[in-house]
Amino acid sequence: MADFDLFVIGAGSGGVRASRVSAAYGARVAIAEEYKVGGTCVIRGCVPKKLLVYGAHFAEDLDDAAMFGWDVPQKRFDWQVLRDNVLAEVGRLEGAYTETLTNHDVTIFHERAVVTGPNSVRLASGREVTADKILIATGATPVLPNIEGVEHAITSNEVFLLEKLPKRIVIVGGGYIANEFAGIFHQFGSHVTLVNRTDVILRHYDQQLVDRLMQISLRKGIDFKFNALIERVEKRDDGTLHVSMSGCDDFDADAVLFATGRHPHTSGLGLEDVAVKMGDNGRIVVDDDNRTSVPSIFAVGDVTDRVQLTPVAIREGQAFADTYFGKKPHKVDYNCIPSAVFSHPPLAGVGLTESQAREKLGQVKTYTSDFRAMKNVLAGRNERSLYKLVVDELTERIVGIHMIGPDAPEILQAAAIAVKGQLKKSDFDATVALHPTMAEELVLMR
Ligand code: NDP
Repeated sequence: MADFDLFVIGAGSGGVRASRVSAAYGARVAIAEEYKVGGTCVIRGCVPKKLLVYGAHFAEDLDDAAMFGWDVPQKRFDWQVLRDNVLAEVGRLEGAYTETLTNHDVTIFHERAVVTGPNSVRLASGREVTADKILIATGATPVLPNIEGVEHAITSNEVFLLEKLPKRIVIVGGGYIANEFAGIFHQFGSHVTLVNRTDVILRHYDQQLVDRLMQISLRKGIDFKFNALIERVEKRDDGTLHVSMSGCDDFDADAVLFATGRHPHTSGLGLEDVAVKMGDNGRIVVDDDNRTSVPSIFAVGDVTDRVQLTPVAIREGQAFADTYFGKKPHKVDYNCIPSAVFSHPPLAGVGLTESQAREKLGQVKTYTSDFRAMKNVLAGRNERSLYKLVVDELTERIVGIHMIGPDAPEILQAAAIAVKGQLKKSDFDATVALHPTMAEELVLMR
């Protein structure tokens, strides 16, 4: 008999869910984690990032407070205070995740594990462990370019640990992390330059909303350098970084953050030796039931590079446990996954963008509401929100909702139910507005 029914490598969102649920079904489960229990999302991703986003928002809230009658004599931001509080919260969550696993009798190995056979792994301590099933849930790691001086740059892994707030930061990339940290550092008072290899940012979001984010970001004072690449980073004696560019002038900066995507974390896991089929970027190829080319080895989450989002990894972990240990087989439905960029202001979307809908459906009608949130009006903040409904003209079904503005992700989560439920524009029209809210715009577009 094998030592365990299930051995999971990687205690992130997908791995923890799969372990906990499989154990609750009665499986004998072990999990190995070489860093911290919780994975990218909890330790150095979504959670600490969102806390920084909250922290960053105070910059504008404190400015706006005066128009609401509050006298805020002086505002001063202390990066170390926020950083340490965020790290303490992350530590608390790591403890909570560990407790959940131990409460479910999951054996935790706080060390690296590599696959040595279809049913065996070797721990860093040298111990060999056997299991009926092995689940790889090792996530993804930031990609760094092969340029001179790249060791002076940081990624989203290190950004939460910065000793001090950089006065000038160069952020490379035009995706989620770049836009989120551009907003965060700008609000904290850093001068932000965002460098992108093309002139397209957030390419999977609706163009009209991305344009709005660009306009607002530019007006706030974030610098964008398009069609530009970093060629070299040089550290001067005083600690400043000289960034040599192609496509624009060189800069001096205090920090360079690469946010140019994340690749599956599979190197050195021993997968090639046991003939697990891998795709481009080192992703593990799996079928709809998360099974790899080796029947006893499975994979969920970012390591499979399907949709790199935490809630998706959690669903995959749950489906794996239900299917193989809970006698409730099911597959993850990847249709209509809502997503958001926690930029300043945030942007969120679900379903088809206008251009995707035109390509797929042909006849499409869009409705937009371009408005200034009440709070911004009183504050004298000239920042407009934009909501957009994309409707299939033939069926009148809402096939996409896209929003930029305060709390857009909070509102979109509920609106996503309507898209998933294939509701029609007439269902929105029939819904009475909840006044005064920003969300009421969703049912007032005519
Ligand atoms: P993204 O895939 O979002 O963006 C990567 C960016 O880097 C793109 O603009 C891309 O350009 C550019 N890029 C890619 N390769 C290079 C290169 N060699 N040189 C220069 N530029 C390059 O990745 P992120 O790193 O921002 O985030 C990683 C993943 O993490 C995301 O895909 C997302 O799934 C997840 N995430 C989700 C968040 C959320 O849900 N709010 C927040 C943060 C991360 P191009 O468009 O031309 O390819």
